Amino acid sequence: MQRQTAQRVAIEAVFGAAGRPLGPLEVLDAARERVPSLNLATVYRTLKRMQEEHAIHPVELPGEAPRYELRAAAERHHHHFRCCECDSVYDLKGCVAGLKKLVPSGFRMTDHEIVLYGTCRCCTS
Ligand SMILES: [Zn+2]
Ligand SMILES: [Zn+2]
Repeated sequence: MQRQTAQRVAIEAVFGAAGRPLGPLEVLDAARERVPSLNLATVYRTLKRMQEEHAIHPVELPGEAPRYELRAAAERHHHHFRCCECDSVYDLKGCVAGLKKLVPSGFRMTDHEIVLYGTCRCCTS
C-alpha cells in the first residue's frame, strides 16, 4: 500500500513538472527517476484510477493514443501543439478569435477542436 502511494505521488509530480500532456510511456520514463521499480502496467493502472477520480483528463488527438493532463490544465480552455519530430504535445495559451465568422448562416457552433502541428523548440534548433 505504501509503495502504491509513492508511485502515485511520483506520477502526479511528473505531470506537475511537465506542464504538458503526457502519454503512458512518457510518464513511465519520467517517474522512474523517482521510483525506479515502476513498470508500465502500474502506470496504466494508476492513470486509470486518476482518470476515474478526475485528477487527470484524457487529451485525444486524431488517430493517436490518449495522453493525459492534470485537471487544473483541462479546466482552462486551451489547445495543443504536436511536434512531428519528437511526438511531444504542448499546451497553447488562449484561443483563436473570429471562429464564429467561419460558421455558415443558420448554423450554431457548440464546440471546436484546434491542433497545431510542427516542430518544437528542441527539434527546430
Ligand atoms: Zn519536438
Ligand atoms: Zn478554443
